[in-house]
Amino acid sequence: MTDFIDAMGQLMTSHGAAKVSFTIRGTKIIPGMFAKLKKVMRIKGRVFIKFDDDTLARAEVDAMYRPWPNQFVFPESMQNKTFLNASEQRMVFHECFHAILDMERVKGISMAEEETAAYIAQSIFSDNQFGDESSPGWKEYNRLLAKITADPSYDIAEDDDFKIIKDYVVTKKMGKKASWGTTEYVHDGI
Ligand SMILES: [Zn+2]
Repeated sequence: MTDFIDAMGQLMTSHGAAKVSFTIRGTKIIPGMFAKLKKVMRIKGRVFIKFDDDTLARAEVDAMYRPWPNQFVFPESMQNKTFLNASEQRMVFHECFHAILDMERVKGISMAEEETAAYIAQSIFSDNQFGDESSPGWKEYNRLLAKITADPSYDIAEDDDFKIIKDYVVTKKMGKKASWGTTEYVHDGI
């Protein structure tokens, strides 16, 4: 008997997750954090999942993770799913990245930087889970990836390619002003 949390958990210990390793503002993201989240998700009362199209429509997003109530919100169409397609996997993995920063009580990363890091983590996951054809394919991403791969302790926050990707994520993916997201999400643990 499998359920949606099993499907999420499988992603946390997947081939794609095993390749996600980089540093941002002194925080080292390692694959073991995803494996830890998989365990924490199974502890009753620690992490919550809601399937609610109205909440997503109000927030104008496809999915979200709310760090204060430790709650994922996903589309109603995903409820009861035990198999996630590629775009659903990318979406879930992205939100799990936010949950990890909350779980680890990470401080010092702005919202814009966190969204960009989540997008990069999701892209690395996707490249390795499904092959390079799913990669964003831009020179900035490829250059940043080469630096991360050569040295996972390389801090991406002040990198020029990271900043270009951040502008894209904020203005194109999120539809916000380029100046959006200078404050931090509240990472109060889960
Ligand atoms: Zn996000």
